[in-house]
Amino acid sequence: MAEETIFSKIIRREIPADILYQDELVTAFRDISPQAPTHVLIVPNHLIPTVNDVKASDEKALGRMVTVAAKLAEEAGIAKDGYRLIMNCNQHAGQEVFHIHMHLVGGEPLGPLLAKKQSV
Ligand code: 5GP
Repeated sequence: MAEETIFSKIIRREIPADILYQDELVTAFRDISPQAPTHVLIVPNHLIPTVNDVKASDEKALGRMVTVAAKLAEEAGIAKDGYRLIMNCNQHAGQEVFHIHMHLVGGEPLGPLLAKKQSV
């Protein structure tokens, strides 16, 4: 059984977060450490640790994540100029919270898709 993260507590409103949207499938709240003027996390209400764990039965929630992202982008006034949706999976992508989430980032030009690799 996968271990809950802080996101489950946010979804259940046990700890504070700036929740912008919630329904029976997904919750969207502002990232605590925004990387752009708009930075929202959209998560399924049930725990899926990584994209590797997604099942066919999760497709409705994952589809809802995208429609909610588009709705929130429209509401934030960034839909026309554009934005980026990001889902990190595991170590090479830098996933830190093991409850899948889609980052909605925008509000300024975001630059190239991938940051240059750090030299070691
Ligand atoms: P990841 O690197 O896993 O794709 O992204 C995790 C994101 O969750 C980070 O952008 C981080 O700032 C955000 N985050 C981590 N803990 C919290 C929290 O307690 N509240 C909120 N609102 N965001 C969080």
